[in-house]
Amino acid sequence: MTPEPGSTLDRLDRPDRTSDPWGDRTPHGRGTGWPVRRDQVLDAGLTDADVDTWVQSACVLCSNGCAADIAVKDGRMVGIRGRPDDRVNRGRLGPKGLYGSWPWASAGDRLTTPLVRDGGELREASWDEAMGRVVETSKRLLAEKGPLSHGFYTSGQLFLEEYYTLGVIGKAGIGTPHMDGNTRLCTATSAAALKESFGCDGQPGSYADIEECDAVFLYGHNMAETQTVLWSRILDRTHGGDPPVLVCVDPRSTAVAEEARRTGGVHLAPAPGTNVALMNALLREQLEHGWVDDTWVADHTFGIDELRQVVDPYTPEHAAEVCQVRADDVRRAAEIFGTADRVLSTVLQGFYQSHQATAAAVAVNDLHLLRGMIGRPGCGILQMNGQPTAQNTRECGADGDLPGFRNWENPEHVAELARLWNVDELTIPHWAPPTHAMQIFRYAEQGSIGLLWISATNPAVSMPELGRIRDLLAGDQCFLVVQDLFLTETARLADVVLPAAGWGEKAGTFTNADRTVHLSEKAVDPPGEARPDLDIWLDYADRMGFTDRDGQPLVRWRTPEEAFEAWKECSRGRPCDYSALSYDRLRGRSGLPWPVTDERPDGTERLYTDHVFPTGSDYCENYGHDLVTGGVVTPEKHKAMGLAGRAVLKAVPWQPPHEQPSTTYPLLFTTGRTVHHFHTRTKTGRARRLREAAPSPWVELSAADADRIGVSDGDRVRVESPRGHLEAPVRVTQVREGTVFAPFHYGYWDVGEGAGPDGAPRAANELTMTIWDPVSKQPVFKTAACRVSRVERSG
Ligand code: SF4
Repeated sequence: MTPEPGSTLDRLDRPDRTSDPWGDRTPHGRGTGWPVRRDQVLDAGLTDADVDTWVQSACVLCSNGCAADIAVKDGRMVGIRGRPDDRVNRGRLGPKGLYGSWPWASAGDRLTTPLVRDGGELREASWDEAMGRVVETSKRLLAEKGPLSHGFYTSGQLFLEEYYTLGVIGKAGIGTPHMDGNTRLCTATSAAALKESFGCDGQPGSYADIEECDAVFLYGHNMAETQTVLWSRILDRTHGGDPPVLVCVDPRSTAVAEEARRTGGVHLAPAPGTNVALMNALLREQLEHGWVDDTWVADHTFGIDELRQVVDPYTPEHAAEVCQVRADDVRRAAEIFGTADRVLSTVLQGFYQSHQATAAAVAVNDLHLLRGMIGRPGCGILQMNGQPTAQNTRECGADGDLPGFRNWENPEHVAELARLWNVDELTIPHWAPPTHAMQIFRYAEQGSIGLLWISATNPAVSMPELGRIRDLLAGDQCFLVVQDLFLTETARLADVVLPAAGWGEKAGTFTNADRTVHLSEKAVDPPGEARPDLDIWLDYADRMGFTDRDGQPLVRWRTPEEAFEAWKECSRGRPCDYSALSYDRLRGRSGLPWPVTDERPDGTERLYTDHVFPTGSDYCENYGHDLVTGGVVTPEKHKAMGLAGRAVLKAVPWQPPHEQPSTTYPLLFTTGRTVHHFHTRTKTGRARRLREAAPSPWVELSAADADRIGVSDGDRVRVESPRGHLEAPVRVTQVREGTVFAPFHYGYWDVGEGAGPDGAPRAANELTMTIWDPVSKQPVFKTAACRVSRVERSG
């Protein structure tokens, strides 16, 4: 095959994209379409002629959802290529997608049979025996203690059909409010901020806003490493005609920060835990300089007077003092926002996993609302997702929220679901807010949750304060079921382990961070006795005998496509309306952004083009919160606000973070990501290219801190917080002084004797804290007091 101009045809044995994550530039000017560049990789020694078939899918290694085809040869996945006609990636794939998508599938340590624990050890078992133990425990607990004895902790990496099925089983089969996803750790604040400002979850903007904007603000979003293809899209604008200027808010000097400086923008590096002070100053500057569309604000928003009062003390000088940045940089960033016609904003973990997370993310929405910059080309807000299918976890009710963005406090919304599922309204938990993950783990620790079922996630590496998490998962007080591809750090602690089929081994749909829905077809069979997660839950529902009010099976579908059709009815009339989508409509073409309805059969590029927001009391997903305390706005108060389709402006004063540096722990520890790995490396750690590019963790220090501590590049250090410690080599980087950074991906499954909790811990979450944002309940991973000492000199 002759490469098209701009194509990258790669083989695993050639110089690769691990060192060039964004690939060749295809620059273009404002308002022109993003050119195609097709990226492809095949297993060593193979050519296109060797491929038996290409199967339609999309990448599930970050929230970008790049459309792809899977190469299949002799019943094995052997490569991947980008789909050039897709609106998300126009043929491109990044290093994780290229090298991490498929090699894990044939790894020698795949789980191929169920395991059960006997005498303290896991041993192989049949599906009948393993499911028998789950069902026996489940029935006993339901009889003895009722639905609150059950907890489900799922993922942001399964498919829509699986989440919806799990949601129905949990809410209408068992009736437990104790359901959440690992999305609580990464995107709960995205959903919370969207609900607070606009009344409902759902990204207002579109990736196509990159082609139209004249400024991009990246708030705590190291896009260059987390969503490499999206970053390529921005680089193709910044290297083309009439480029946008970038503003980066990040305590580290990343590639994003560098590009911000190169484009004449600003890199603001606020001290960890000070985002709200910075955001309040940016808001105040808009008001001070009259960079506000007063008529639009009056017509389409609520709360301007209160916002004005809250942000008034936050002069650039005050913010500079709190955040330890230059006041002139705050002014410059505010001016860029205030004088641009079209700003695209994108937000991620630097805000979401921080102190006052929801308040900081809401302030981004506020900036857009003050300028009336929403619902038109180039003016997108991307309250980004991190996990690839996090949007579906939230939409389908697998995270505790009611499916279809329904409001648990609205009796009519609960009644709608009861009619749809033909169950008693009282079965559906709606007497209190859904239980968030941090509380689910607390209940499991106490034993009031007696059965915890964890699917496709690895809390023994990803949750804060790992020593505590390992202890509670290993304890006898709670029966632990883990469903995964591998014997992860979490699965090793389980009472029953269920082997799951992964991406490419099952069919389903998923929705990316700009609401684009893709179909992922089955390409190969799973190994051994591994089963799709959907089949596992259907088997559980059958064995439990869950029925509706008429004694008919509660879950009436058997295949992914039937589950999708059931979900379409659940979503009908709600903001995330899939009612005019089908598997056939997604086959052989670009993904489509929801809502997809009879009126909008090709989907919806941007929400709120009419400037009417889903804030009506009868329709909204929740009634909002006090952003300081998390206290809920009552239905009565919400009605009295008379929002009538207006968006809500909200601001709160900055408060210092919970744990401050002290003489004992003089530095602040913050965690993050690297371009070469996804989550806890279950897949990417088994891909040779990615593993070799980033084989083990490290710790970043500023030159000043390294000097003070007396360490140099490569020295091995111990980083210690009041909760635990890790050891890793030092990299002296341009991280801001006083801040210590470590990637969170690394656990213990792939390290030998002597490593791990009893030897030399290396997981970043050994140090982090069990605290969370009051509104989104997202744990804080970005501020923990710590100290650093040298263990060993390099060389
Ligand atoms: S940007 Fe994300 S979705 Fe796209 S190829 Fe990379 S990891 Fe996959």
